[in-house]
Amino acid sequence: MTARTDAIDLFHTRFGGEPLGTWSAPGRANLIGEHTDYNDGFVLPFAIQHRTYVALGRRDDGVLRVASTFDDEVIEVAVGNIPSLFPAGRDSVAEWARYPLGVAWALVHASGRDAATLAGADLAFSSDVPVGAGLSSSAAIESATAVALTEVWGLDLDRVALAQAGRRAENEAVGAPTGIMDQMASMLGRTDAAIFLDCRSLEADVIDLGFAEAGLELVVIDTGVSHSHATGGYGDRRASCERGAQALGVVALRDVTVADLERAAGLLDDETFRRVRHIVTENDRVQATVRALRGKGPAAIGDLLIASHASMRDDFEISVPELDTAVDAALSAGAIGARMTGGGFGGAAIALVPHESVNAVQDAATAAFAASGFAAPTIFTVAPAAGAARD
Ligand code: ADP
Ligand code: MG
Repeated sequence: MTARTDAIDLFHTRFGGEPLGTWSAPGRANLIGEHTDYNDGFVLPFAIQHRTYVALGRRDDGVLRVASTFDDEVIEVAVGNIPSLFPAGRDSVAEWARYPLGVAWALVHASGRDAATLAGADLAFSSDVPVGAGLSSSAAIESATAVALTEVWGLDLDRVALAQAGRRAENEAVGAPTGIMDQMASMLGRTDAAIFLDCRSLEADVIDLGFAEAGLELVVIDTGVSHSHATGGYGDRRASCERGAQALGVVALRDVTVADLERAAGLLDDETFRRVRHIVTENDRVQATVRALRGKGPAAIGDLLIASHASMRDDFEISVPELDTAVDAALSAGAIGARMTGGGFGGAAIALVPHESVNAVQDAATAAFAASGFAAPTIFTVAPAAGAARD
């Protein structure tokens, strides 16, 4: 609860007075299904116990202010000016504040409300979601903002609409071309369950995980290698997928099956083919993982996680040596499956580990990083947790 207390304390010091309440939203880990979201495909993320909290107070002067433990400054805008804030005014907003103000902007547009009629508010954020670890601190701050402002502004928007507002903020206010997975996981998460999401229809099924009953824990190995999805490889991979879909004459790579791959090989250059093969086989693995979880349970998904990592390392080429080292060390120390999670180029790996091997995995990863001359990783377990809500 300390992040919640910190948000309230920050509210006191930056704004004064008492907040109306706190709202919070979780980060997420992706069990399987990487880069499939923006290809209209399937993903299987779950919300984690790490959360971003916002303490919110109403103001009656039409001003919206945001503050975070990340920054000494309070950022202020007139609510009436929110509709024109993005994308044009992006450069005038501090980078971190583009997340919450981007959500405010997207909510105003999605609701069709006249911004001038909406109440002002003070929002103070604090979080215990590791930043840049591939656990989506970005979706956590977006979803916390979305549930808080929706309630205070009395907007008639459902959870999927709030997830879409978060994604729009990330795409158009921040400028990161990410898919809808993170926001859906943060909005829809359930205790002990993952969210099986069809990113085309946005239909979401709750899939029981049962890790504890199976004697398994989900261990996160945060490499500390930071990534940025607003620049570089993420956008390149997205462009490759769009090129592949166009060359194959489909709306999105979701429409390509494993059986189509042989034909695709003849139509695409080698690099584009390997990018396509990752997406197509990863979609297949997500569906196989859901079948395994519904049938045999979590002990049966290890090989799918391992195959997913190999595909990201060799075909999609989004892994880094630290992530490969984390995965190999975890598997050698008793994990039944392991893979990098999140967009890649850094961040964290996850490992599914029998309870009695958790310490061995931690020791093995720490030793392997030291032997390779990498900075020590941060290692912790995560539990599938509930989605965004008023606390
Ligand atoms: P990830 O989502 O993997 O943690 P991103 O680069 O997508 O990494 O998002 C991290 C960015 O989100 C931070 O650099 C910061 O700008 C913003 N952010 C996340 N949480 C907070 C917070 N509590 N306060 C302020 N900004 C935050
Ligand atoms: Mg993010």
